[in-house]
Amino acid sequence: MPERMLRFVNVPQQMPAKRAVAERRRDFREIYRIFEDREAATQASRCSQCGVPFCSVHCPLSNNIPDWLKLAAEERLEEAYEVSSATNNFPEICGRICPQDRLCEGNCVIEKGYEAVTIGAVERYITDTAFERGWVKPIRPRRELDSSVGIIGAGPGGLAAAEELRRYGYQVVVYDRHDRAGGLLIYGIPNFKLEKEVVLRRRDLCEQSGIRFELNCAVGETIGFAELRARHDAVLIATGVYTARELGGPGVGLPGIVPALDYLIASNRENLGDHVPDFVSGLLDARGKNVVVIGGGDTAMDCVRTAVRQGAKSVKCLYRRDRANMPGSMREVKNAEEEGVEFIWLSSPEAFTGREKVSGVRAMRMHLGLPDASGRQSVEPIEGSRFTLKADLVIKALGFDPEDLPAMFNEPALTVTRWGMLKINHRTFMTSLPGVFAAGDIVRGASLVVWAIRDGRDAAAQIHDWVGQQAMLAVAADD
Ligand SMILES: Cc1cc2nc3c(=O)[nH]c(=O)nc-3n(C[C@H](O)[C@H](O)[C@H](O)COP(=O)(O)OP(=O)(O)OC[C@H]3O[C@@H](n4cnc5c(N)ncnc54)[C@H](O)[C@@H]3O)c2cc1C
Ligand code: SF4
Repeated sequence: MPERMLRFVNVPQQMPAKRAVAERRRDFREIYRIFEDREAATQASRCSQCGVPFCSVHCPLSNNIPDWLKLAAEERLEEAYEVSSATNNFPEICGRICPQDRLCEGNCVIEKGYEAVTIGAVERYITDTAFERGWVKPIRPRRELDSSVGIIGAGPGGLAAAEELRRYGYQVVVYDRHDRAGGLLIYGIPNFKLEKEVVLRRRDLCEQSGIRFELNCAVGETIGFAELRARHDAVLIATGVYTARELGGPGVGLPGIVPALDYLIASNRENLGDHVPDFVSGLLDARGKNVVVIGGGDTAMDCVRTAVRQGAKSVKCLYRRDRANMPGSMREVKNAEEEGVEFIWLSSPEAFTGREKVSGVRAMRMHLGLPDASGRQSVEPIEGSRFTLKADLVIKALGFDPEDLPAMFNEPALTVTRWGMLKINHRTFMTSLPGVFAAGDIVRGASLVVWAIRDGRDAAAQIHDWVGQQAMLAVAADD
């Protein structure tokens, strides 16, 4: 029976059930269960169908959220899927891992007084159902084009662009230095947020759509950038940001202090069934250890929760600001707390103790000072507030900067900003090199999956325009 809308007045918000803490601490499966059919329809029916949908305005993909919520409430799921997938290449992924509290749901107008519509969970439900019922089909372009596009990076930015270019009919080759496609979706973000079957299902669909992958192919090493440019009519760089920000202080080089991404990649590989020597040796395994993770973003949250699942003795997160100023999603902080992670706010490491390997983190308490030019409060140490935490494994999760792409690609004419991100024309997505475009984290700096998808889609449209213009110029030159 179709649901009416505007039911937020008498239907309370309900997230899909979370698995019990004792159960989820022991495995890497996703922690939220999928909605039952009736639950999804009922939750979607809470939407007020307001005149100015701020949820859409604050969704980086400008998803037509009220439309697909209405269709879901009426149980017209195939149509809901059509509408939702028209603006988003990977709705089931965004539904799982977008920080909805800061984006769509955080701007739901029924929130004041009533709680927001559970947009992400309904979005996930619609697309998971579409996959289950066979509505998600490989791309079949109306006509094949002779032109080809090379995409460097098989993360969400590169894959979204690949799909869009394939839709136009381009021959698309995606190059990645890893052995699997997916970028941070496969090797950064852990299973308990995004099960890898969900990413692999998308990779398979890309292949069935005629997108070719050249994996284990590091551009700048396995193949030169100039050679890659010569192979294709246009190139998209979607390489993400991978230079880990470093810690300072005495003892920072001690064994047992590891970068977050090494740790997460090892865990993800292990869960994918790979043999990971550094995990087997115990270097990147938290089992039985006192773990201290330094940082307060999504990466830090993923590390603490991975350590819990690996059977750490204790897991602490050291962050120099307070809870209100954490860059990570509040929902993830809450999940981590439920799972037994201890947060040590307003504390910063200054040295690492130990002889042959790390045995402790010496830290100082901080207080928040006056806001700086960016509006962010400065952090200042409190004299005489030193304390030491026991640690057998310290994970550095302080964020990422771009690699030096002009050097890596041996292409000094590729211009970058003063922070090392690729400089593009924000209208055309073209870099300083003709026919070379860029999208995702390598342009924005460490950001979100949903923004990478948006950039990939926009860049694909611009590449299509540019290749078309070049073809017209060639015809004009021949005349
Ligand atoms: C641990 C962690 C957790 C996160 N959690 C979330 C979250 O919950 N929600 C969210 O929205 N965002 C999250 N993010 C951010 C999100 O993953 C990124 O913003 C997003 O993946 C960026 O997409 P991208 O396509 O630009 O780059 P990436 O996903 O980084 O993909 C880039 C790809 O390029 C490849 N590559 C790089 N250089 C070369 C080269 N020279 N040759 C060939 N291939 C190359 C890399 O191997 C990689 O596969 C998280 C990030 C991290 C690190
Ligand atoms: S893509 Fe992200 S921000 Fe947009 S509707 Fe989905 S969950 Fe919300």
